[in-house]
Amino acid sequence: MRQQRRTGDKPHRASSRRSGGGDQLNQVLLAAAETLNEWRSLHPRRRPGRAVSWLVPSWPSGLLLSRYGQRLAEGLVADRVLREHARARVGLSLLTQDDRTTLFELSQAAAVSMSGDSDDDISGSGHSERAVASMSRQLIARALLDPNDATAATGASLFRRLPVGSTGMPSQQNSEPSGAGVTAGLQSESAAAPRAGQGRLPRQRQDSDSRELRRLVGTSAKELTRARAELSSAQAEVEALKATLVRLTQERDQARANLPSRQQRQRLENAIQLAADLRKARKQLSDLREERVAQKRAHSAQVGELEDAVAAAQAERDKATDARHRLEDRLGDLPGRAHYLQNLLKGRISRLEADLEDLPRNQARTRLAREVTQLRELSEHLDRVLPATGVDSDPQIGTGAAQVATHEAAGAQSVDRAEYRPVAYASADRGLRVEVLGGGHEIGGSAVLVEAGSTRILVDAGVRPNADSPRLAAPPRIARAQEGRLDAVVVTHGHNDHAGFVPKVIADQPRAATICTPATAALMPEMWADAKRVMEQQANDMAEYGWLAPLYGEPEVEAAEKSLRPLTYGRPHNIKDLTIQLFDAGHILGAAGVVITAGDQRAVITGDIYNLPQLSVGSAQLPPKLAREADLLVIESTYCDRRHRDRALQIQDFVRAIAEVVGGGGRVLIPAFGLGRAQEVALMLRQQLPDVPVLVDGLARAISDIYEREAHLDIFGGNVQRVDNRQRSRLMQTFQTGVVITTSGMLTGGFAVPWAQQILPDPHSALFVCGYQDEESAGRALQRLAERDDPTVPATLPLQTQDGPVAVPVAARVETYSLSAHADRDGLTEIIDELAPARTMLVHGLGREQKKFRETLERARGRRTVRNDLPWSGLA
Ligand SMILES: [Zn+2]
Ligand SMILES: [Zn+2]
Repeated sequence: MRQQRRTGDKPHRASSRRSGGGDQLNQVLLAAAETLNEWRSLHPRRRPGRAVSWLVPSWPSGLLLSRYGQRLAEGLVADRVLREHARARVGLSLLTQDDRTTLFELSQAAAVSMSGDSDDDISGSGHSERAVASMSRQLIARALLDPNDATAATGASLFRRLPVGSTGMPSQQNSEPSGAGVTAGLQSESAAAPRAGQGRLPRQRQDSDSRELRRLVGTSAKELTRARAELSSAQAEVEALKATLVRLTQERDQARANLPSRQQRQRLENAIQLAADLRKARKQLSDLREERVAQKRAHSAQVGELEDAVAAAQAERDKATDARHRLEDRLGDLPGRAHYLQNLLKGRISRLEADLEDLPRNQARTRLAREVTQLRELSEHLDRVLPATGVDSDPQIGTGAAQVATHEAAGAQSVDRAEYRPVAYASADRGLRVEVLGGGHEIGGSAVLVEAGSTRILVDAGVRPNADSPRLAAPPRIARAQEGRLDAVVVTHGHNDHAGFVPKVIADQPRAATICTPATAALMPEMWADAKRVMEQQANDMAEYGWLAPLYGEPEVEAAEKSLRPLTYGRPHNIKDLTIQLFDAGHILGAAGVVITAGDQRAVITGDIYNLPQLSVGSAQLPPKLAREADLLVIESTYCDRRHRDRALQIQDFVRAIAEVVGGGGRVLIPAFGLGRAQEVALMLRQQLPDVPVLVDGLARAISDIYEREAHLDIFGGNVQRVDNRQRSRLMQTFQTGVVITTSGMLTGGFAVPWAQQILPDPHSALFVCGYQDEESAGRALQRLAERDDPTVPATLPLQTQDGPVAVPVAARVETYSLSAHADRDGLTEIIDELAPARTMLVHGLGREQKKFRETLERARGRRTVRNDLPWSGLA
């Protein structure tokens, strides 16, 4: 019954759209519904969380009140916040204490009535109770909004007991019978069925209900559309999410696929381990390296200090050596000469004593005897003051040199060699080092020590001409070369001032090779044999004056011959750390300059050099590529102070003068060096004076043979003949017109001396000097005689013959012709300019002239020069 009635009520309640009429309870319920709807319309995030889903905003007030009133009331009871909001909307005052009492009484009454008749509610029946109900509705409305939960619950329980018609809708109230209790709105629509009396409703109401229904349907359709749109958007969202899921799945699969395999992981782990180890090792290594760097820095600092110390010590030593050598040079001559004079004095004393024996005893004899006694005292005094033999006192050169020729020398030599302590030079392993040991500021005794690393070579080892003793014939500082092992002796050419000491060097350094051009190798044995003969002769001649043994004898010459290693021009040759290469220096047959290379450093040593062609040899051939811009040029300076007359004119004058003398029925003696000048003059006379008989004597003969063989020249033949030893004495008498070319070039020995004895006193004859004359040579003395102020004053020339000194009267014509085979000032300048070395060192000349030339080179040519009395180092 009640259900039917309630279902039939529905359209009526719906017609009043949320107005709620004047009824406060309805206003409260509608306010609750509006609040809930409002919350629902809020953004989900901002919703208080109490938005209910069962409420649809478009529902009319009637529908809400009739069907969901109870729910709304329960909602209010359950939510204090909702109560607050609803209260704010309807603006009802709170319950007073009296109101609460009343409410409590009502509740009690309702409970009593319920216990009596469960079907009936407090409203009961009858009009008197309606007023009470109306009042209680107000009370319930305010109770439902009460902040107190219990009060609100009481309100709600009373609300449940309110009659249905009490919703405040007058039509409803009127049409509905009282006594029908309002129960919880749980009735379902399906349970509802049209009441039998529905057809009896007025037509107007039916229309209104159907309108309302249509409107509701329209609203529902809109809701549905909106819901569909929401659904489709939700579906789209789902699709998007599905796509994302697929993508993520794929990514996950891919990631899984990319995951390394077990083996790979193992390897990776190994690699990581390895990398860690490596890092550790690297760290250790870098620590170690830092340590080493620090050590190295410390070491190099120490090395630097040591090097400085060594350099200082070396400089000190060089200075001391230099001073010692200068002293030695000065003193060297003095003891020798003193010794010579000492012997001379003793000889004179003994001769005087012999003479004294024969004299009659008189005052003169007494005076002489007194003088002899004084002389003997002087001699004894000299013996005390001067060492017995000045030579033996020299530890470095004397003993070995002196005793080579005597065959008991072996022991002495080995003692000598034992004293040659090899010295490690700090500079040696730092580059090329060049040190002049002889022939620096003199012509003779040329020797240049070249060192690099452990390699040591000697360029030239010559003797000093006209030395008073064999000891003094050695290059002054040759002992330096003997301080260590020599790897080679490079000989620039066969002249004695460059090669004469080689057999002595080889005797002391038996493992060293002698390197020179093939022509020089052919010439040197002849030169050495001649030197040996001359020295033996001198030793023999001077024996009574204590003249010492020759520098070397036959065994040493043979050993030197065996050490020869010919090297052709232009061919590089390695000697350990050094490379040498020879080039044609002109000058004489086989003469060579040498380019020495050590790493990136080069030194060029010219030897004797001549830049113009001669009849017997061509001009010097400088190798520009090899020798240009060398670090050091060591160049001879024999004629650095003069300019040669034009060579052709000089030869013309020379030949004309010879023709004059010979034409006048006289003889011309030409003392010439056996090697070079003699051949040049012979060739000249053979070509230009083919009718003048020319004799070639002495060493020049054998040398000319070598020239013919090595240079393919014709020297002998035609007017040029050699002197046979057996014919010489006869020829000296019979050969009255013609030219004699013979050694020595300075009239110091050889067959030039007997020939000079023959020719010099003859006024129709002539002696033509045509080469360098040593200051103390007989040749130089003759030149001085020729330059004397009054040529009519008779003059004599002291000559050393085999039978002793003789004074030879000079009546012959004496002239000097410069047929030099050495470059003059211009030639040297030209060579230096062409080679453009970083430094130039002058050797093989006289100090004073070298000084002038050096100044010219420095000031006028902008060349840098270095001294020859100090070692040159490529790194200095
Ligand atoms: Zn020479
Ligand atoms: Zn020379």
